[in-house]
Amino acid sequence: MLLKKKEPSVELEKMILLRNRLSTTHPTYPKLNRDIQQITAGDFGEEIVAKFIQAYNHPTKAYILHDLLLASNSDFQLDHVLVTNSCIIIVETKHIKGDIHIHDRPAHMTRQIDTGPIERFESPVMQLNRSILFLSDWLIERGVDIPVKGILVFSHADALVTSDSSDHLITKPKYVSMKLREIRIEKASLTSLQTKQLATAIMTSHKIYENKYFQSQYPYKKEDLQTGVQCQKCARFGMEKRRQTWMCECGHRDKNAHLSAMKDYQLLLGKLPNTESIMDFLQVPSRYVARRIMKKYSLSES
Ligand SMILES: [Zn+2]
Repeated sequence: MLLKKKEPSVELEKMILLRNRLSTTHPTYPKLNRDIQQITAGDFGEEIVAKFIQAYNHPTKAYILHDLLLASNSDFQLDHVLVTNSCIIIVETKHIKGDIHIHDRPAHMTRQIDTGPIERFESPVMQLNRSILFLSDWLIERGVDIPVKGILVFSHADALVTSDSSDHLITKPKYVSMKLREIRIEKASLTSLQTKQLATAIMTSHKIYENKYFQSQYPYKKEDLQTGVQCQKCARFGMEKRRQTWMCECGHRDKNAHLSAMKDYQLLLGKLPNTESIMDFLQVPSRYVARRIMKKYSLSES
């Protein structure tokens, strides 16, 4: 039973809005663009795996929760969690392509695409083990005694994964059901009511992720941002305010075109706009019109 879906990420939305208003020559642009592509690919992989988990039929009632952020000694993020009466299974997804090898000693992962350079990463098995420990601690803090297991899914169709270790926790999306079934434990730790209560407790403990370091990771100043209302049809900035509507050079009209620009302002500059900032950011030459926009959206002058 699906209990929690993955929610759209506010941070990713903010990153995309920022990229949209930054020049490609801005020093922040390359990292921002790379990170957006990486997160988007990761989300795509999680979506594939989520479908396979949801299609799985556990012999007893099982609760599925996607995309969790919980707090124990520190915050920890989990891609997918299956809560059953005998164990909790964490499913972590990696969406990367290439020839991938997971090394045991020392623990790390290498990846090579075609004949390109060999890249090194943190071991996803160690990451999964850390998540298992964190969730076990979280359960102990709440007096719940139930085993926590984990599997690791490589979701990219062009990933060839090999591993030093012979434990079979690594798989592909289409074998997720089989793996979930394999690690099932016969002995129930919880009653069906307790299982439901635990799944609900996990869901309600989920925290909304807030990146306090956004500004230092992706530095930008107000002056770096492209101003103007953007046309949804041709993507050009600088729609003109006409009576009752906004008008683009391409001929597209949209009476609500300013709403997304105002959202950009609030998300990227973090404060309510005043008349001057509306005139500047929305490229509205008339103070009177800027005031009317403010009044309509109940923004008081600061
Ligand atoms: Zn246009």
